[in-house]
Amino acid sequence: MIISDYHIHSSFSGDSVEDLNRICKKAIELGIKEIAITDHMDLDVKVAEDDLNFYLNLDEYVPTILKLKEFYKKDLDIKLGMEFGVQKHLGEIGDELIKKYPFDFIISSVHTVDKLLVDQKEFWNDKTRDEAHDKYFFEILKSVENFNQFSVQG
Ligand SMILES: [Zn+2]
Repeated sequence: MIISDYHIHSSFSGDSVEDLNRICKKAIELGIKEIAITDHMDLDVKVAEDDLNFYLNLDEYVPTILKLKEFYKKDLDIKLGMEFGVQKHLGEIGDELIKKYPFDFIISSVHTVDKLLVDQKEFWNDKTRDEAHDKYFFEILKSVENFNQFSVQG
């Protein structure tokens, strides 16, 4: 059995401060053979100023992960991943981004409906729980239909 972890966020991600070298060393220490770094990329989200920023600078991120992959290759198989915050109008943009870089693994996650993060009060304010759930699942359906370059649905 290969022990792996394909959902890891590093300090490149808006929601993590974890150092990439610490992640790799810990994985090796735990006997994990493969990991995918899957930092968040969310485009076109309505956020308040104090919200976390989930934009991922791919021109810095990708070369950093590729360097790490090379450095640890004897002990750890590191996959270049990303968790793409897909929205129904972003499918094509997502597909293009993913073709532009040598990604190994993509998590497609729906974090927003009508550009609002679903964990924001603003999203829930004007709807019943059922309406909110319907909108969320409809967004997932449309996103899956419009986005092709992903490995798993988050
Ligand atoms: Zn995640």
